[in-house]
Amino acid sequence: MRVLVVGGGGREHALVWKLAQSPRVERLYCAPGNAGIERLATCVPIKATDLEGLLAFARQEKIDLTVVGPEAPLAAGIVDLWEQAGLRIFGPSKQAATLEASKVFAKTLMQRYGIPTARAAIFASPEEAKACVRSWGAPCVVKADGLAAGKGVVVAATVEEAEKAIEDMMVRRVFGAAGKRVLIEEKLEGEEASVIALTDGKAVLPLLPAQDHKPVYDGDKGPNTGGMGAYAPAPMVNQAMLERVQKEILEPAVRGLAAEGVVYRGALYAGLMLTGEGPKVLEFNVRFGDPETQPLLYLLESDLLEALEAALDGRLEEVKLSWHPGAAVCVVLAAAGYPGPARTGDEIKGLEELEDKEGIMVFHAGTRREGGRFLTAGGRVLGVTARGKDVREARERAYEAVKHISFPGMHYRRDIGLKALKYLEG
Ligand code: ATP
Repeated sequence: MRVLVVGGGGREHALVWKLAQSPRVERLYCAPGNAGIERLATCVPIKATDLEGLLAFARQEKIDLTVVGPEAPLAAGIVDLWEQAGLRIFGPSKQAATLEASKVFAKTLMQRYGIPTARAAIFASPEEAKACVRSWGAPCVVKADGLAAGKGVVVAATVEEAEKAIEDMMVRRVFGAAGKRVLIEEKLEGEEASVIALTDGKAVLPLLPAQDHKPVYDGDKGPNTGGMGAYAPAPMVNQAMLERVQKEILEPAVRGLAAEGVVYRGALYAGLMLTGEGPKVLEFNVRFGDPETQPLLYLLESDLLEALEAALDGRLEEVKLSWHPGAAVCVVLAAAGYPGPARTGDEIKGLEELEDKEGIMVFHAGTRREGGRFLTAGGRVLGVTARGKDVREARERAYEAVKHISFPGMHYRRDIGLKALKYLEG
């Protein structure tokens, strides 16, 4: 089978690495890929958002299955395009991808089907949004409706801060059309966790629960990033909680969409706040999360290709996933300046020391090769991922591995997975 993975970050390296182990995969391609991916797949220099370019390539190379990493091509309708062309692709349709591309769509779907989430009001007028903030008071959360590369959410501590966020989004239009409408949400308290599931539009098969670390500095300080590290399984989501997430959140979302004529096929990601009243949805994503996918696929024992194909064929109900025992932790190494504009072109040293090390996998994100040298090429550079008998051991191994790698300006969080330890002791 000839498989194409679309994207070029740590998530896509993990997808390619896992798919490469499937006995039925004969040829693997990745567009555009990165310096780590090119050791496992043929990288083709086509951007993930160049749908026409990708389609021409898929036709020419007779690709049997395409797997999409990032949200932009999904929101732009890559799945619809492939289906029109009679090609197989894993991911939700453009309409289903609205679950991520419009927070208003997601919120109203949740309201219609009683899916637990923060109380919210939707506004197309900045004056009305500000009046709402003044009447609700602070703290509150202001969210731009559309995609804003993870920056369209402001958790405001004061009414003034919330009003400024409304002004930035709706009047100054700092995120363009994404700020045409905003949601004002109550601030939820609790621990955050993510559950990613595969779905064929009927059955929902959750992967292990995971926890991301969005703020750039230790102790959840500083601006939000795409994610500075993740681990799985997240012990705050025990089996009973995972079942609630499945029954109260994931299944009603998939069924609700189906009832409205939208078949959701692909990976469905629920970003959760575990509140005193139970798990509530912060956001849905319509794809595998990054970095969560790195520890998750490093732990997955089952053949990923078989699971993806079962989802496409509507036989996900038959699939049972098996996992390595223990836990995996992924520490993201970021470039100077990240999450602001990141410096690129710095030489990465020490990667060869970690090759073939049992229980350690370095997934590449923003990297490129120049001759024999690896250079930084993006904000998040590497995801150093380790397995262990529990989160404590996996953390120790991941941080031990990090010591071997260096590049000018490299920074990372020292506390990835720390929140899990109290559950081990408790
Ligand atoms: P992503 O980059 O994951 O797509 P996003 O821009 O879609 O992010 P959300 O995940 O909705 O944004 O929110 C980002 C962060 O803001 C969450 O991880 C959470 O920490 C915080 N947040 C969002 N909504 C709430 C809420 N109602 N109460 C408390 N915190 C919230």
